[in-house]
Amino acid sequence: MKMITSKFKDSLDISLLGFGAMRLPQIKKDGKDVIDYEKAREFIEYAYENGVNYFDTAYVYHGGFSEVFLRDALKKYPRESYYIADKLPMWDLKCEEDTERLFNIQLERLGTEYIDFYLMHSLGRYNFDQALKYNVYETLKKLQSQGKIKYIGFSFHDNTDMLTEIVNTYEWDFAQIQLNYLDWETQNAKGQYEILTEKGIPAIIMEPVRGGALANLCEGANEILKGARPDKSIASWAIRYAASLPNVMTVLSGMSDITQVTDNVATISGFEPVTDEEMELIQKAADLYRKRDNIPCTGCAYCMPCPAGVDIPRLFKMYNDYSMNLNMNGFKNEYPKLDDNIKGYNCIKCGACEDLCPQSIEIRAKLDFLEDLCRKQ
Ligand code: SF4
Ligand code: SF4
Repeated sequence: MKMITSKFKDSLDISLLGFGAMRLPQIKKDGKDVIDYEKAREFIEYAYENGVNYFDTAYVYHGGFSEVFLRDALKKYPRESYYIADKLPMWDLKCEEDTERLFNIQLERLGTEYIDFYLMHSLGRYNFDQALKYNVYETLKKLQSQGKIKYIGFSFHDNTDMLTEIVNTYEWDFAQIQLNYLDWETQNAKGQYEILTEKGIPAIIMEPVRGGALANLCEGANEILKGARPDKSIASWAIRYAASLPNVMTVLSGMSDITQVTDNVATISGFEPVTDEEMELIQKAADLYRKRDNIPCTGCAYCMPCPAGVDIPRLFKMYNDYSMNLNMNGFKNEYPKLDDNIKGYNCIKCGACEDLCPQSIEIRAKLDFLEDLCRKQ
């Protein structure tokens, strides 16, 4: 079966599945987490050889090593046979010249002469003000006129008023939003998608599986989806949901396991849009899942590192894993066994993590909640 593609600007064929290089597999080296090149390279090769041609990275992913890894993994393929998307860390800008300076570092890391899809990373009020203050769009237009950028876009984490302001301020080639069947209503992904569609801006979808949460829902919800398509994964429903929307250019999946890569490739290669009946099943499963008291953390790790050493995404994932199965006793038993250095009670309440969390989670309050939960044994 052949990878399905979407048409971009009536000329490019973009694979409807995009490879997100933000959660690559890691190994320990000299006590540090580094990209497991052997495994990650296998993912890229499998994806590329099965028709994926859109590879998404960012200045900050894996501390800059995601870009370097992509350079090494993709260099055996002709440069014109794939598209690279990369993002400017808006929060790092201190002056107008920083845009070009950081962009040149990215070209160097990627080992390329140009970036196909270049995004202002994580626009919301603060980062968009940075863009206005430092004339970022104008600099990107200049780089585009020099052939160093092909298309200009942005990734987005804020409300629909903010999105309207952004799309009305500049001309954009594309935009990246968080969309999945949970966030369609809860984070108004629907409103965001509609704004882009009305403006004729193609949407790139991030977090279609909500950081892995929609790959395994909860008892009852899993059975609804499995009952309808026994031989398909739970994650495949989430990928198909996002890919079924007509204004979607590509659905990004941050794949960290080869089974995710093969499953996502199979889902889009044998793509079947979600039917009306299936949409009803998805709503039923989502309603059941919402009744679980989960923390809406996607595991993106933008909040890390924490100055007090708290491993925020790990703690939230652990809580969610137990909460999903209504097994709070399991959580209370396992939490005390964690390394004390990463636990929530080390939090000094600086609030830095909350400024960076795209899901607007009240992280300090949630950490207190987890601590309290385990104290009340
Ligand atoms: S508020 Fe707490 S958890 Fe968040 S960055 Fe500061 S110390 Fe770390
Ligand atoms: S708490 Fe927020 S920033 Fe941190 S990993 Fe979760 S979603 Fe990402």
